[in-house]
Amino acid sequence: MKQTQSNNQPNNKPSNQTNPSFYVTTSIAYANAKPHVGYAMELFQADTLARYYRQAGQDTYFVTGTDEHGQKLKEAAAKHGSTTQEYVDELSQDFMSLAKLLGLSNDKFVRTTDAGHKLAAQKLWLACSKDIYKGQYKGLYCVGHEAFIKESELEAGVCPDHKTKPQELELESYFFALSKYANQLEAIIESGELKIVPQKRRNEMLGFLRSGLEDISISRPKSQLEWGVEVPNDPDHVMYVWFDALSNYISAIGYESDPQQFARFWPANVHVVGKDIARFHCLVWPAMLLSAGLETPKAVFVHGFIASDGQKMSKSLGNVIDPVDYANSYGVDALRYYLLRFIPSYNDGDFSLDRFEEVYNADLANNLGNLVSRVAAMLVKYNDGKYDIVPPKTEIDISGLVAEFRFDKCLEQIFARLDSLNVAIDNAKPWELAKTNPVKAVEFLSAMAGELTQVASALAPFLPETSQKILAVFDNGKIAPSPQVLFPRID
Ligand SMILES: [Zn+2]
Repeated sequence: MKQTQSNNQPNNKPSNQTNPSFYVTTSIAYANAKPHVGYAMELFQADTLARYYRQAGQDTYFVTGTDEHGQKLKEAAAKHGSTTQEYVDELSQDFMSLAKLLGLSNDKFVRTTDAGHKLAAQKLWLACSKDIYKGQYKGLYCVGHEAFIKESELEAGVCPDHKTKPQELELESYFFALSKYANQLEAIIESGELKIVPQKRRNEMLGFLRSGLEDISISRPKSQLEWGVEVPNDPDHVMYVWFDALSNYISAIGYESDPQQFARFWPANVHVVGKDIARFHCLVWPAMLLSAGLETPKAVFVHGFIASDGQKMSKSLGNVIDPVDYANSYGVDALRYYLLRFIPSYNDGDFSLDRFEEVYNADLANNLGNLVSRVAAMLVKYNDGKYDIVPPKTEIDISGLVAEFRFDKCLEQIFARLDSLNVAIDNAKPWELAKTNPVKAVEFLSAMAGELTQVASALAPFLPETSQKILAVFDNGKIAPSPQVLFPRID
């Protein structure tokens, strides 16, 4: 069993068999483009949940990865002049480097071209076989979507997202009897057995259910698409990319290869996904699981999209925010802070350099960084860096907000505590008090050190590196020599 991290976190219990498990996933990135800032936010949200429950002593598992099948990738690889496998190896490497650069605490990186994943997807297919039948599929197919789209969704004859004309296709395909599960899906969503957050996404899904579900095509003839997982017992067909991709959530924890680990972590506590793929995760995936006789995930958290300076990001507008640039220039925690707090957890949000630098200076450099360095410097000056460890008067309790995936509200609450500590220090004026009543000044500063240690613990899941640095400054009753500046001001 996995040992949880460092000792300087008060909530940390050693893990044991009776600890509840916590399994969190991101969606797997479709490996046809470089990672974008919306995906970085999703990675941070899932990482924050993993860190929070790990710190609370739960038996935690966190998975992210890449979705590497589909026609689009085969076409892109051909253009790129490499084999499809070489091409996806390279792209998946980019995502792995990103995960590393962002300091993610994932336990596994899943790739859908891994042999183990393919076996798991095939096992799931067989488990669903009573609901799978062969038929003729006729429709309008958008290559950009990797999906058939409805005539009613077109704008001026083209796909509104991809601006391309869909192809008319008729082909032999396997179907999954999704319609059969409409009532059961409605029941588990209504009862909260499958929790969909935020509420408006839940209502949207119930709306889809009430307007009726159609069976979905889940395979392609190999003549049309060979880059995929072969359908069991029918080598002329490969799985439709969604059937294959969704099964990553169980292949990653040993559905096919490790029954013990699978039992330990399934069902997932939460899948973190973007709003464009909510339907697949809230309806199709749970129906596949019900069909296979498996439990459905406990929750799906659906985040919104990020605009750049009020506009949709696009290469032609030149307003694409590169998360790697920001992480390199300002530090990963500064990027985490902006994305987790200022992109509303339940809504779409906006990213701009001006706003980013403004909150960096106000919240991170001043409110947090400056307070830490002032308290530490005064303790050094007035008491040789020593202080008594005093437990804070009030706890910071964000457990309810974390359970509702309100990352923004959690950080708001923690930073509100910092505001009140800044007010307290300005009122108490320990630098003046030190002249008349040095004992009282040190007492006050000791209490502040205790408060900041608590803030650091509360921040650990959100800003892990910063949290560690603060805990290192207030090193158990003794200020560390020459503590580093947490967030140098941007001028
Ligand atoms: Zn499209």
